[in-house]
Amino acid sequence: MAKQVVTVCPYCGAGCLMTLTVEAGKIKKVSPFGKGDRFLCAKGKKIMDFVYSPLRLDAPLVRQGDTFKRVSWGEALDIVASRLSEIKDKYGPDSIGFMGSGCFTNEELYIYQKFVRAVMGTNNIDSCARICHIPSLKALMKSIGSATMSNTMDEISNTEVIFIAGYNPEVCHPRLYHRQIKAAKKKGSKIIVMDPRITSVAEMADVFLQLKPGTEVPILNSMANIIIQEDLVDELFIQRRTEGYDELKRQVEKYSPEYAAKISDVPAMSIIAGARLYAASRNSVILWGMGMTQHICGVDNVSALINLALLTGNIGRPNTGLSPVRGQNNVQGASFIGALPDVFPGYKQVTDPAAQEWFKSLWGVASLPEEPGRTSTVFLPGVLEGKTKALYISGENPAVSQANLNLIRKALAEVEFLVVQEVFMTETAQFADVILPACTFAEKGGTYIRLDRAVQLLNPAVSPAGESLPDWKIIQMLASKMGYGNLFPYHSEFDIHEELRKAVPDLAGITYERLQDGNAIHMPCPDPSHPGVLVRYTDVFPRPGGRALFVPVDFTPPAESPDEEYPFTLTTGRDARHFNTSTIACPRERAGRAYLEIHPQDAEALGLSDGDAIEAVSRRGKVVLEAKITERVRPGVTFAPLRRCCESSINLLTGNALDPVAKTPEYKVSAIKLNQV
Ligand code: SF4
Repeated sequence: MAKQVVTVCPYCGAGCLMTLTVEAGKIKKVSPFGKGDRFLCAKGKKIMDFVYSPLRLDAPLVRQGDTFKRVSWGEALDIVASRLSEIKDKYGPDSIGFMGSGCFTNEELYIYQKFVRAVMGTNNIDSCARICHIPSLKALMKSIGSATMSNTMDEISNTEVIFIAGYNPEVCHPRLYHRQIKAAKKKGSKIIVMDPRITSVAEMADVFLQLKPGTEVPILNSMANIIIQEDLVDELFIQRRTEGYDELKRQVEKYSPEYAAKISDVPAMSIIAGARLYAASRNSVILWGMGMTQHICGVDNVSALINLALLTGNIGRPNTGLSPVRGQNNVQGASFIGALPDVFPGYKQVTDPAAQEWFKSLWGVASLPEEPGRTSTVFLPGVLEGKTKALYISGENPAVSQANLNLIRKALAEVEFLVVQEVFMTETAQFADVILPACTFAEKGGTYIRLDRAVQLLNPAVSPAGESLPDWKIIQMLASKMGYGNLFPYHSEFDIHEELRKAVPDLAGITYERLQDGNAIHMPCPDPSHPGVLVRYTDVFPRPGGRALFVPVDFTPPAESPDEEYPFTLTTGRDARHFNTSTIACPRERAGRAYLEIHPQDAEALGLSDGDAIEAVSRRGKVVLEAKITERVRPGVTFAPLRRCCESSINLLTGNALDPVAKTPEYKVSAIKLNQV
């Protein structure tokens, strides 16, 4: 007899609910679930391709020369436990780097960071958040005191003005695009888009700011200046709820629309129109993505956006707010539950003595590492400096996702010991000494945090394929092998969740029982009778003194600009047919061929026709791509999506210059040259 299991799509942070129809232990059908808001995009509908992919890992593997040998779980974990212990003893705990995943459940993230801190004795733990929204976290923490989305996804459809900065919702979060943004537009909302490329949302914009990549701050500072000069500020809000206004006012004075236009190539009139539209409405919301964060000034870019919301009082009320739109299904969890080198679960700083005492007592350990660890963007290349001796990579694919891939692949090849815990044989797994097979979302339980802070429940539908196991179980077994089984006494995801509720007061009220039947609860939710919070910061901001802070920022040019030798700018992003590096999703064949968008004017100068093969070369590497001639990009600018294909991964070209605070690489601006093949 068929059973129906309600669970959550594992692809993006929009968190669509789905019903899996299971017969004879196999998923037969996937359908949208929900009351009135049933939605699954093409990726969600094709979920069976992922669960039943022939590329799934179904047994532990150990390297034997150039190939891998199947071994038992006991053998694999013995090797991992003894090699990690040896390396820890010989070089110290900080010689090992751990990468957790934005696709883990909260329970898995919790147990993973506990293992790294309490068993391995290091804070060298990081996740994909490093290469996406850590700049948002840093900027929001400084200005607002909390790093989550301020309002809910549903409210976006009721807002008057939507400012979309460096974000392509159609391909990143199809539900948000189709159900919120398009619905809002239909109801009469105005849209401002700031993007170097004409995306589908740019086509429906009322004001489109097609900037030169890397010139966000001049435009945003100029908008702030216009809002101040034209007295469009919310004075009462500034007086009662903020600090640092005078410093901001002084900083943005020099950013006239003409000055910003000169740097960004966006007409001054468009900047003025954008500022007026955003500030004059009763309710404006800002959504931003990696077009804002993946720069050497990613933190500054986000601070400049936050300043606009604070100037106009567009935060702390329904249908307004600040929305860092996180990409992967649980990257909000990866960051909030502490798969980061500087925070425990609940964004508690590892340097905070009170947080140290709290977690030591909860976990029953005498000591925890007190210094922030290294980020993945530092400990991965750290192999080549002799500082990193072992890597444990779970649910991430740095051999495709990191910037400057020739350097990263060299590090993966040279590291003394590499463990990969994965669902598929990824490009990163090819470098591993030991591969531990993990199961998919459909084979385990747990919770995810949606992009708008809503916690949702995952229900297991079928048994894990082959010998694969849930990630939490693998970590628990490894901890036992290392003699720390007493710290991980869990029988199920439920037990871990109960400890997580104790560890993080904002999750204390969210029980599995309350999440049944597709129910979502927006954290913070401090007790089981609390309904959760839809609109945050209605009276105070969670900063000392309760006020939000204006953070003045100045323009920092990109680390690399086009020159005579490398005359084009490359910017990167996604397209609708694939999911990140495809680690957990769309099969390679469906992702299509790797391509480079190029403006017709540039194509003509190079004698290129649509579909021609072209070699793109940066100072770090080269790839052959298919030319796609389009006016979506400006002359001089090219665009390529992230691709799994090893030999044409666009990150062979991108540079690893880092934001000094967030340590996020500047994926969005690289100088390249183009050669005919
Ligand atoms: Fe899954 Fe996102 Fe598509 Fe929804 S919009 S079905 S969560 S990929």
